[in-house]
Amino acid sequence: MDKIAFYDTKTYDRKWFTALSENTGVEICFLEMRLNADTAPLAAGCRIVCAFVNDDLSQKTLTVLKNNGVSAVVMRCAGYNNVDVKAAENLGIRVYRVPSYSPTSVAEHAMALLLSLARKTHRAFVRTRERNFSLEGLEGIDLKGRTCGVVGTGKVGYELCNMCRGFGMKVVAYDLYPRWESGIEYTDLDELFKRSDVISLHCPLTPETYHMVDSHAIELMKPGVYIINTSRGPLIDSSALLEGIKSGKIGAAGLDVYEEEAEVFYEDVSLEVMEDDVLNLLLSQPNVLVTSHQAFLTDEALEAIARTTLQNVRCFLLGEETDRELTKTAVNV
Ligand code: NAD
Repeated sequence: MDKIAFYDTKTYDRKWFTALSENTGVEICFLEMRLNADTAPLAAGCRIVCAFVNDDLSQKTLTVLKNNGVSAVVMRCAGYNNVDVKAAENLGIRVYRVPSYSPTSVAEHAMALLLSLARKTHRAFVRTRERNFSLEGLEGIDLKGRTCGVVGTGKVGYELCNMCRGFGMKVVAYDLYPRWESGIEYTDLDELFKRSDVISLHCPLTPETYHMVDSHAIELMKPGVYIINTSRGPLIDSSALLEGIKSGKIGAAGLDVYEEEAEVFYEDVSLEVMEDDVLNLLLSQPNVLVTSHQAFLTDEALEAIARTTLQNVRCFLLGEETDRELTKTAVNV
């Protein structure tokens, strides 16, 4: 029976993958640790590795996997900025991903962050639990009539555009490949920064998009702008974001992803000293709402992720082609 070494397992992964892998002829070995060069030897005996957003799939890790008999990596996520795809191709490791599972889940989470910040429900929740029923400082804003700048109108960004329209917001967007037929108004990035009351990021992390929101970009923005990031942390220079929050230029920030999230996200580090000063300071601000890369975490998305990942396993085992494979030029070694 073929085995899958499943890294960084959480309860919700186990639930869906166990249920959907029954009678598929593959055995899943659930491991709690993250994948990196040190933990890669644990995959020995497995031809397939299943990994996630904060696992390390650098050339070094992939080489150790290869030396331990791994021939395929199935990513149970859409983004693959943590995978050295070229190195995998050279090593003959096939890499697959789940390009789409539930864009709605991610877009709704972006909207949830925005609504919480706009109406300060995250503050109200903490207050009323303490029997503090004062409204002082909880003044919010209406979204209707405001302009949302959406960067990246792919699957998630496009859903968010429609949600914003449903709220009566104006939408402007920037994308390398605009959906002209959608009726969305496209502008260049600087113009989007200048015109938006809310900016929501939905483009992938690439060398071009790294620190897309930096101090220069923040300078262009409207005073009081809300920034929402459910895409990838390094799209934002977090030190510049913190400065923008401290100066009052940025009205609020909703972050589901963070530049240095790999150190802490998905783990309970509440009893440890936090070394990341920028994250500490961001977390301590009343107008910053951080979630731990959970935009994907819905029943609908988890089921779709497990289903597609297992389809990718099947494609690998049967030698079937799929456009969900990233390593087009990989050779079976
Ligand atoms: P997608 O590929 O459907 O859309 C990405 C869009 O970004 C495309 O339209 C593309 O043309 C555009 N784009 C690429 N480079 C750009 C650039 N330099 N400037 C502007 N636009 C650019 O991806 P998606 O499914 O909509 O997902 C968007 C991002 O959300 C993913 O890259 C992933 O990092 C992130 N994501 C996060 C979570 C989460 O749980 N927080 C879950 C899924 C996806």
